[in-house]
Amino acid sequence: MSLGKIWVLAEFAEAKPTTATLELLSAASTFADRVEAFAWGEGVADYSGVLGDYGVSKLYDIGSLAGSLPGPKVAAAMAEAISKDSAPDAIFFATSYDGRDAAARLSARLSVGVITNVVNLVAEGNELNAEHAIFGGEMILTSKFTASAPRIFVIRAKSFAPEAKDTASCEVVPASVSDLGSTDGAKIVSSHVEERSGPKLDEAPVVVSGGRGLGQPDRYQLVEELASLLAGAPGASRAIVDAGWVPYSYQVGQTGKTVKPNLYIAVGISGATQHMVGMKGSKNIVAINKDKEAPIFQVCDFGIVGDASKIVPKLIEAIKAR
Ligand SMILES: Cc1cc2nc3c(=O)[nH]c(=O)nc-3n(C[C@H](O)[C@H](O)[C@H](O)COP(=O)(O)OP(=O)(O)OC[C@H]3O[C@@H](n4cnc5c(N)ncnc54)[C@H](O)[C@@H]3O)c2cc1C
Repeated sequence: MSLGKIWVLAEFAEAKPTTATLELLSAASTFADRVEAFAWGEGVADYSGVLGDYGVSKLYDIGSLAGSLPGPKVAAAMAEAISKDSAPDAIFFATSYDGRDAAARLSARLSVGVITNVVNLVAEGNELNAEHAIFGGEMILTSKFTASAPRIFVIRAKSFAPEAKDTASCEVVPASVSDLGSTDGAKIVSSHVEERSGPKLDEAPVVVSGGRGLGQPDRYQLVEELASLLAGAPGASRAIVDAGWVPYSYQVGQTGKTVKPNLYIAVGISGATQHMVGMKGSKNIVAINKDKEAPIFQVCDFGIVGDASKIVPKLIEAIKAR
């Protein structure tokens, strides 16, 4: 089965497409004969080569936003392209702030539905069935559109593997965006890039996360030290983010980041559904918890029952000794 055409909103960070973008492009290539992308930003056309490597044959260049929010312009550019040409069968957005904003605005502009929180897509004839997580990931529901194209899917990170295809040539065309009036009223006045020394949390091969079981904020240093020794990234449960021990950008879970490292070490984390939905796809899970009944032990490959404040220093010592 193959759909005719899928559009993907390509997002960029640190001068390259985000991993979520590459995941969506790879998925789109498996389901459609033709994949086209929309992107915004100064010099975005320069990335047509890398997009071509991921199967994109046409890039709609929305251009510089000049301080505007991306959502209104992306939705307008897509709606205008649809009015001039035929609609794609499906449009993929990442579950990012801008992806969700643009998807919602496009859905309203076109009066079509949107399926969010998608964790898998399954082809059935000329349809795409979406598996999406509800009740904090407690249930996976299968849904499909009954209305005509385009079908809008907002897809969670790490749902598909990012795999480059044979290099395709990617044509770049300007996307026209007419005057948006007051819809374009909100302006970005400043942006802040969080400092980090190791790998990005959602791309690191090893993640060590700490939870309330650490007992006190300064013990989070143990999590950071273990993560650094393993060339990984430190993460956190929402309990200690809400308590102000670490910034929100460290949070793993339903309302935080989705991670899928080779090794995930959960230190003093109970394993609430909302946490596990963000890490249970990890290849190997190690849990350290003093309560042998803690739910995290149901998903881990290796569990240590004991006091984290004693076990983690011993682990650090052992790794240093090697
Ligand atoms: C809508 C919604 C969204 C949410 N989103 C998220 C999310 O994205 N991410 C997230 O993490 N949570 C999320 N939550 C919160 C979630 O439900 C839990 O409250 C949270 O994950 C609990 O964090 P925790 O495991 O650190 O704390 P707790 O549940 O309090 O667990 C602490 C654990 O530490 C163990 N412990 C205690 N002392 C020690 C010790 N000395 N050594 C070892 N272990 C010890 C305890 O046995 C316990 O299992 C969300 C909740 C809601 C309602």
